[in-house]
Amino acid sequence: MSRRNQPDRQTLQLGSASYPSIDDLIANGTLVVHPRPERETDDPLKGVRAQTTYTLRAGVTFEVLHDDLCRVDGTVLQAQLSHLPTPAYRALVEASPSFEQYDGLDPLLQQIREGSLTGQPLLDTLEATVVAGRQPSRVPSLVVLPRSFSATWLPEEIYLFQTASGHWFLSLSFRTTFRRCSRALRPTAIGLDLGLDPVTVASDGQTDRFYAPTPLPVVRPQDLSPAAWHLYQQLVYASGRQDAEAVIGGLVHGARVVFAERLTHQGMTPRFVHGGRDQAIHDYHFSWLPQYLNAARIPFQRVDPAGTSIECHCCRDSDRHNRVGTGAVFNCRKCGHQGNAHVNAARNVRRLGLETSSWWTAARSGQRA
Ligand SMILES: [Zn+2]
Repeated sequence: MSRRNQPDRQTLQLGSASYPSIDDLIANGTLVVHPRPERETDDPLKGVRAQTTYTLRAGVTFEVLHDDLCRVDGTVLQAQLSHLPTPAYRALVEASPSFEQYDGLDPLLQQIREGSLTGQPLLDTLEATVVAGRQPSRVPSLVVLPRSFSATWLPEEIYLFQTASGHWFLSLSFRTTFRRCSRALRPTAIGLDLGLDPVTVASDGQTDRFYAPTPLPVVRPQDLSPAAWHLYQQLVYASGRQDAEAVIGGLVHGARVVFAERLTHQGMTPRFVHGGRDQAIHDYHFSWLPQYLNAARIPFQRVDPAGTSIECHCCRDSDRHNRVGTGAVFNCRKCGHQGNAHVNAARNVRRLGLETSSWWTAARSGQRA
């Protein structure tokens, strides 16, 4: 099992209104260029298309003020700090003495997810919440903490970087630890089909588990003041995070090894235009899923996605002309198998993983437990 040398890096977009302030911080030497390390594996931002990476000059303080605001040596910057996975968000809030947040966010989110608060009452509640203002708080809202995971924030590892397209990002570092609460009697190999709806289908080859996103009320920006709209977006993101983290809970309970399709990363910028819930699910697919499983010491391997959605998992026929049906329906004309296309894909991913995984081959031949 590999040692976990690198902390988990969480990347957050900085608000464009803060860009001039960042320029000032560079000009006055508060932010200093972080030299590119000789070995790529030592690069804290490997995999990110950073043009230049900056870090804080020694002795400079970094504080989190609320969900959208941090302060670097007296200069405030907008950052989507609530877009962190649960353990990281909680660790950050607990380490931030100046943190403030709105009251009543947890029951509000619960009502939204249950569908018991919609329409005008929802709009009124959102407005009233922002009018009441933020209060000092050390207990993070909107995070249902997975019992097995906890994190510590590493304030000495803070990076800011700009992409080629000119956007600024903040990278925060966390050490995530895992404590097993329960385990399936016979943990097994799990294949995942990842998407937005369902968020995930997880298959152990016999049974298939669907994780659906929680439906949310449709609210339009013109229905709300900018501050209330912003709060609603934050709640929508938190809801997507809960949906995504439910999958993690299932996996750490029953998985011995997890396989998922290799996803193509379209770059950093486009993902931030997704709706809040989709964005949370996207963050889960790309970052949190491997990070959580790594913390839980569950091997996670990506497999080649070619063919996993068109091949029939029963007869292994992969002639796409033999497949009829649309959307979620998989219908094999060759062997007659009918089923859900996401289940079919998850089972193919699992089989492909078992066939090609070096970890599994080694485990089976007794070289590794
Ligand atoms: Zn078939």
